[in-house]
Amino acid sequence: MTIKEMEKESPLQNALRQLERACDILQVEGDVLNILREPRKITLASIPVRMDNGETKVFQGYRVQHNNARGPYKGGIRFHPKVDLDEVKALAFWMSVKTGVLDVPYGGAKGGVTVDTKELSRGELERLSRGFVRQFYPVIGPDQDIPAPDVYTNPQVMAWMSDEYSSLAGKKEPAAFTGKPVEVGGSIDRDTSTPQGGVYVLEEVIKHRFKGKKKPYTVAIHGIGNVGGGVAEMLHYTNNDFKVVALSDSQTAIYNAEGFDIPFLMAQKHENGTIKGFDCGKEISHEDLLALDVDILIPAALENTIMAENAGDIKAKLILELANGPITPEAERILLDKDTLIIPDILANAGGVTVSYFEWCQNKSGYYWDSEEVQEKLSKKMKAAYQNVLELSKTYKTDLRTAAYILAVSKIVKAQESLGT
Ligand code: GLU
Repeated sequence: MTIKEMEKESPLQNALRQLERACDILQVEGDVLNILREPRKITLASIPVRMDNGETKVFQGYRVQHNNARGPYKGGIRFHPKVDLDEVKALAFWMSVKTGVLDVPYGGAKGGVTVDTKELSRGELERLSRGFVRQFYPVIGPDQDIPAPDVYTNPQVMAWMSDEYSSLAGKKEPAAFTGKPVEVGGSIDRDTSTPQGGVYVLEEVIKHRFKGKKKPYTVAIHGIGNVGGGVAEMLHYTNNDFKVVALSDSQTAIYNAEGFDIPFLMAQKHENGTIKGFDCGKEISHEDLLALDVDILIPAALENTIMAENAGDIKAKLILELANGPITPEAERILLDKDTLIIPDILANAGGVTVSYFEWCQNKSGYYWDSEEVQEKLSKKMKAAYQNVLELSKTYKTDLRTAAYILAVSKIVKAQESLGT
């Protein structure tokens, strides 16, 4: 296969190649590998939604349950116009791996709806969210499969979904969804846990990687949605350890060597839906942003942002993958060859599912923790996972992604083998 042909491969093909590489190293073959290649269950549903103009529109919904050997299925629900079955399968698989890396007692799943939420009113979004739960009610639940937010879903969507679930169950079932608002059983700090988890890992990595290097470390962030925007704000308040010099959203990318007033820009983003047109820096292309000569690049948008054709242009020495699957395997090979350190998605963005786990524990026990407790536990989990991955990368003389796969896949394989097939 030529590079060009491989680049056409879907996120799912990329995910499966990562799995096969780990299984090769671990010498896992046969039944278990076959089991892990395919999701256990795929549920598809058409979701009819009454629109504000009185018409009914039908949306395509998905829930893919990849593996539950280590615990109930777990993973977010994505609302995006590009959602398709192939993408949801890849994302479900990555959740199985992510929960393994972080050692939270779950399997992996993902859901999605093919929809552009920017075209929906608040009422339509609520009816779609509730409609999703009515369609998928038989396959989800607190001990079966626990959804959470993902791209273009948020705590409000989880509140509607959780409420719909409780109505159908005839009793309060807060543990059926995580990422809810705190007022309806959400965990404190769940909303910022994905970027926060990434920052905890980043702090550990740079202790060694940037030893002796002058601060502040410059950062470019590709995508400032829930996760990228959150990390921009956190890095802004780090006492000049980091300086965010470039940011992008779907409409624009901006660069300013002096850094930005991030709280101001994020307020504009929330109000106007974009950071375009605020004269805060030079407007550049998304490709230019990715190729900036910065210390740290943070892809925080969607899959396949860095591919073979632009990987050669990347100058950052460290990449923190806050998006799921932003680097294709071919691009990764090019980056590793020039000694770029990649902190892989299944570790870097796993703070979200980790605090989802904390939320589920709190819902099940009815005892709620304060921010200090959540942060202490999150930091401990993220740092332990990073140390485990680092150790394995040394033992197997391999990159951090392969090491993370080795860590997770060996746990899933043991669980699967002990249950039988
Ligand atoms: N959607 C997030 C992810 O990709 C969070 C999943 C969860 O909390 O279950 O990791």
